[in-house]
Amino acid sequence: MADKNNFKTLISTLTIVLLAFSYAAKSESQHSQLIHRFQQYLQINTAQPTPNYMPAVDFILLQAKSIGLDVQVLEYVKSKPVILLTWQGKAKSLPSILLNSHTDVVPAEKEKWVHEPFSAHKDSNGDIYARGSQDMKCVGLQYLEALRNLKDKGFVPLRTIHVSFVPDEEILGRDGAQMFVGSKDFDSLNVGVVLDEGLASPDENYRVFYGERSAPWWLVVKAVGAPGHGSKLYDNSAMENLLKSVEIIMRFRAAQFDLVKAGLACEEEVISVNPVFLKAGTPTPTFKEKEPIKNKLGVPLVTVANHSNPWWTLLEAAILKVGGKLHKPEIFPAATDARFVRRRGIAAFGFSPMANTPILLHDHNEFLNEAEYLKGVGVYEAIIESYASYMEAVEDRDTLSEL
Ligand SMILES: [Zn+2]
Repeated sequence: MADKNNFKTLISTLTIVLLAFSYAAKSESQHSQLIHRFQQYLQINTAQPTPNYMPAVDFILLQAKSIGLDVQVLEYVKSKPVILLTWQGKAKSLPSILLNSHTDVVPAEKEKWVHEPFSAHKDSNGDIYARGSQDMKCVGLQYLEALRNLKDKGFVPLRTIHVSFVPDEEILGRDGAQMFVGSKDFDSLNVGVVLDEGLASPDENYRVFYGERSAPWWLVVKAVGAPGHGSKLYDNSAMENLLKSVEIIMRFRAAQFDLVKAGLACEEEVISVNPVFLKAGTPTPTFKEKEPIKNKLGVPLVTVANHSNPWWTLLEAAILKVGGKLHKPEIFPAATDARFVRRRGIAAFGFSPMANTPILLHDHNEFLNEAEYLKGVGVYEAIIESYASYMEAVEDRDTLSEL
């Protein structure tokens, strides 16, 4: 005869086993849904120079509504929509968090890809091939999946969370992020910190960017002096004067390069300079001088990436908490939309959670592995939860500094 207690134990064990099984099955199907949504977004062809923005808008709005976010579509330039999603926080007076991504991608040369670049083909090892899989449709949807999970968990944000999807980043962002960041709509968001794109990391450590290389300065050195002739010796010839300048530039170049060679700085942290064009002798009437320096010779602004900036401390702690590892913060080797917000004095970090992934943005066969993608969602969940729960005012601190 079966012992009644044993029977009970057996039943509860079975229940636990079944429960565990159903949780596993649930998360399995949740994962495949998540990947499916990522593939759907990747399949929308938003490649420059003719990005198909409207289907992307429809798709994002559908996601946002299913999560329960407030939606707005702003149009500063016709047919260039900026999508703005909002999860209102409890403490309305505290500055908000803005999670930014761009909806456009660079073109892809189909014949150089192993899989069609807008098919979002998934290999048996989980690699998802698509233009935008790294730059940066992954990030845009990871933000949304993280918010979906936080909503499901019953999380209540203190700070308001905004998510922006902007057009045209790949063609300098003038009709996209620049218009948006310069708008009254943006002012009204009272943004305290921004997350934007970063780069994949081939090793296990994620990369975070706290600034970016400044726009290039085209410098024209014009040397004048006595006109001369090869048969005469005299001082102050134009060429002699020019060489003095070139020598100073080359000495500066060597000093900067030495820092890189000695391992004291990486290439993005120094100023590179190269004489690229030389013209001497009697100017011809057709010679057109390149426009002199138009950029302000101001100091580039970077976001403080140490423990004096709470946004940095929270970011780092959140990533570590979910088992992520980090490289030391870096300067982004090119330009991103984050420059527009930094210019307004707002802290911004460039971060795309892709470890163990070759850097393939703008390259053929761009891909991201599904496991990395899913891990990234968890990383954003931790960061957003931490940022949106942060009560202290950061406003009186300097979150930006000079390089
Ligand atoms: Zn990008």
